[in-house]
Amino acid sequence: MTERKQRQIELEQLNRELSEKTQIDELTQIRNQRAILARLKNEMDLSIRTGGKLSVLMLDIDDFKMVNDNYGHVIGDTVLADVAAIISRSVRDKDLAGRYGGEEFLVVLSDANAKTAKSVANRIVRSVEANTFQENVRVTISCGIGHFEKESMPELVDKADKNLYEAKRQGKNRVVG
Ligand code: GH3
Ligand code: MG
Ligand code: MG
Repeated sequence: MTERKQRQIELEQLNRELSEKTQIDELTQIRNQRAILARLKNEMDLSIRTGGKLSVLMLDIDDFKMVNDNYGHVIGDTVLADVAAIISRSVRDKDLAGRYGGEEFLVVLSDANAKTAKSVANRIVRSVEANTFQENVRVTISCGIGHFEKESMPELVDKADKNLYEAKRQGKNRVVG
């Protein structure tokens, strides 16, 4: 192999690593907001082309401020990372999970009708509820579902967000949508 070719391969590898780093959230090791929204845009375009169903889940840990207040930020961080791992484990291979913000997560469910989306969402909520975290911390999570109906991305995310708000209002630890 020529030196030039070798150098090119190394550069391509570096580029791949860099691109991965800019897409992964450091704390939770799942996609960051930019990466999950980019994937959502792709899935929306695909759904419009193929007519396939698409749903998104917006999830927010319940009373997370209390976890930080009672156990400290360090334990809070490990709980956050563990919840992200539970979410990733609970979705199908073709689904995509990302950290949307502080203790909020966005899951993109491709090929998921209302029934499938609800069942995935309930699986996540029940798994978080059943888990015991470090220092015996227990938390719950609430979820709002948005079903794609060819609206814009902000409108779709907002639909899921409104249902999340409704889940909180109804008492948390539940799925709405
Ligand atoms: P709700 O049930 O309504 O969601 O209540 P909440 O306490 O979860 O909501 P609120 O928005 O009042 O507080 C969110 C908390 O999440 C406050 C903030 O300190 C914490 N948080 C956000 N990001 C991180 C993080 O990266 N690490 C830790 N440890 N805490 C975080
Ligand atoms: Mg919260
Ligand atoms: Mg929040």
